Amino acid sequence: METAWASIFRGAFIEGEPRAAKAGTSYYVENPANGQPVAEVAECGVEDVNDAVVAATVAAGEWSQVPPARRKDVLVRFSRLIEEHLEELALLETLATGKPISDARTSDIPESAQCIRWHAEAADKLYGEVAPTGPDSLGMIVREPVGVVGAIIPWNYPAQMAAWKIGPALATGNTVIIKPAHMTPLSLLRMAELGSEAGLPPGALNVLPGRGEIVGTAIARHPGIDLVAFTGSTAVGRTLLAHAGETNLKRVLLELGGKSPQIVLEEPGDLDMVAARVAAAIFKNMGENCSAGSRLLVHQRHKSALVERVAALAETDWAAGDPLVATTRTGPLISGGHKERVLNYVRIGRQEGARLITGGTSVLEDTGGHFVAPTVFDTVTNNMRVAQEEIFGPVLAVIAFDNEREAVSLANDSPYGLAATLYTENVKSVLRIARALRVGTVSVNTPSTGDYTVPFGGYKLSGYGGHDKSAHAHDQYTELKTIWIDVG
Ligand code: NAP
Ligand code: MG
Repeated sequence: METAWASIFRGAFIEGEPRAAKAGTSYYVENPANGQPVAEVAECGVEDVNDAVVAATVAAGEWSQVPPARRKDVLVRFSRLIEEHLEELALLETLATGKPISDARTSDIPESAQCIRWHAEAADKLYGEVAPTGPDSLGMIVREPVGVVGAIIPWNYPAQMAAWKIGPALATGNTVIIKPAHMTPLSLLRMAELGSEAGLPPGALNVLPGRGEIVGTAIARHPGIDLVAFTGSTAVGRTLLAHAGETNLKRVLLELGGKSPQIVLEEPGDLDMVAARVAAAIFKNMGENCSAGSRLLVHQRHKSALVERVAALAETDWAAGDPLVATTRTGPLISGGHKERVLNYVRIGRQEGARLITGGTSVLEDTGGHFVAPTVFDTVTNNMRVAQEEIFGPVLAVIAFDNEREAVSLANDSPYGLAATLYTENVKSVLRIARALRVGTVSVNTPSTGDYTVPFGGYKLSGYGGHDKSAHAHDQYTELKTIWIDVG
């Protein structure tokens, strides 16, 4: 069975068709649940990026001139095809990422389709402006596509991160060259074929699997690419800015990491409900989530009751298992290397004096997969590395506070500023705290950061200009042009 999968070869997707890499290079995508190869994939290089830029530039001439209502039709069809291929795409997503198939089926793939449709439907509802000039002039402010958009995305939500970028970029008339994370190219390669089937012109959506250091760097430095949209680590975000600075000053959109606090205040309501949501916010997608609620700031009065409940959930509902089983909520981590990184943070936490309540170990080792038991650390202080650094795994750091002021100060004492969650029944403290937090999204009594109607982006080291989702995403992928006419 494994041999059959591994014999499947997936090319890059350039100019509307699958292609081997110019240099003939390839690599194997591995299933993190058993360490076995899933498919062989073209490993692109600089020449492939150059070819994709030529194709995307030609396609931009065509796609930007397609009337918005027609662009809408093509992209709505694209979203429908994704929905029609739900089972196949969900399976590809789970085989490459190890995420639970139930999440891939009910969230990753349907939400990718919904995202593309949301932006598609906006395509013919974006107006320009007429400036309030005197009678002798006409000042028009028009939006134009930026041109060729480069996108570099991570492995944690491969289809969804792609949809967040290609949705608004294509809807506003740009063409796209996207590099999936090298470990997770499969769902996106299939989606690109569906895009062509929906009527995207050849070259409008190109997918180039390969190494970040090579393909990512080539995208960031290419003079023919006008913008790079990135989701991933702060370290890579910094290098992309440097590449843009040294080359054509392309616009750089950065959606980076986080160390998001979940703040449980003095009047949190039903603690069982709060515990279930707190656990979901850190353990969903194995904690491999930029907005994971990895710090639990809890009022001293509720700490032991809440920690006990969350730990119990970690050991039951969130126990690791085969991601292809429908009831599994925790699959393997993405790779053996990442598992070691997460386990190393567990060692660091213990050395720093945090108390390990549950988890912190490698489990299900006989599967050959990279499983780590959902982990809770109590008696953490906010200066510890496990409270400051993004672990990107199922590790919760619990920190107690005595009053609201202390909670806000702990929450903001982080290099990151992506998201925060508040649990309270006190409306007045909600507004006070929401305004005081230096983060891009504040969620109240829910771990959800919202749907496509609201932007998602960070403050501080969580990046900027990475406002994927909502109509604000369209601003990111368009230029504003002024046309000033003398009519006096
Ligand atoms: P990463 O290194 O930032 O990778 C993200 C994307 O950037 C991947 O496509 C990667 O390609 C590419 N890349 C890597 N090095 C590059 C370079 N020098 N130039 C251009 N592109 C480059 O993130 P990661 O290694 O996957 O994970 C590391 C940490 O990043 C995580 O532990 C987590 O803290 C953070 N992270 C955050 C998010 C988020 O949603 N904000 C998502 C993923 C990771 P390759 O796949 O070839 O490396
Ligand atoms: Mg990396």
